[in-house]
Amino acid sequence: MRKKVIAGNWKMNKLPNDAIEFITELTPLVKNSENEVVLCVPYTDLFYSLLHAQDTNIKIGAQNMHFEERGAYTGEVSGEMLKSIGVEYVIIGHSERRAYYNETDETVNKKLKKALSLGLKPIVCVGETLSQRENGLAKDVVITQTKLALQGLKNEEVEKIIIAYEPIWSISTISTGKTATKEDANEAIKWIRKEIEKIYGSEVSENVIIQYGGSVKSGNAKDLFEMSDIDGGLVGGASLDAQEFAKIVNYNV
Ligand code: PEP
Repeated sequence: MRKKVIAGNWKMNKLPNDAIEFITELTPLVKNSENEVVLCVPYTDLFYSLLHAQDTNIKIGAQNMHFEERGAYTGEVSGEMLKSIGVEYVIIGHSERRAYYNETDETVNKKLKKALSLGLKPIVCVGETLSQRENGLAKDVVITQTKLALQGLKNEEVEKIIIAYEPIWSISTISTGKTATKEDANEAIKWIRKEIEKIYGSEVSENVIIQYGGSVKSGNAKDLFEMSDIDGGLVGGASLDAQEFAKIVNYNV
């Protein structure tokens, strides 16, 4: 049975004091959860968050990393740097990074390989735009992104990856006024799982965790996460409030 992983993505929100307050509030609310609880916080919050989450079941992640170990990359943070302070998870290829910071399928693949080599747990984002969906291209886009992200990885590496299917049009800040239904989300995740089965076999495809992301809230989490192929969620806006995020984590309680 695959574990559900509920990961918050704070994006560029919260100062260290806010992070500490949030973790203090969240800790008792999720302490009995059988689901994996992850907070992907800004770089400046990582150290404080790690300290405050130390004896809890809350795992801490970053929102990006560079694929090189060191060098003349002003403003970048390497996987080694994340690992050195005890970060466990890292989001790779979020649609905002693809759209605003020239993240490509190639850099996503390089980052993924680097993260795995360091023992970081990558959450790799894939997903189509609204026009791609409306033109019947969603399946092609999502499968191509997945294949290129995973290119060159061994079966045992693919099993360690978390994939987040995030239809860009369904992300709360994009304001298309549309959100994916639980059926849309489950169908797309099945496309991904089937493709992984074709390339890496059924054992890998049955084990790989594939989340859904896009306007997940306490009001729809249960419906989404109870679908056959959805293994939890990557949560943006609704992860900024500890009470709301706790309800999402505890959707099955
Ligand atoms: C996201 O951007 O990863 C996301 C899922 O955001 P939201 O939950 O706010 O739609």
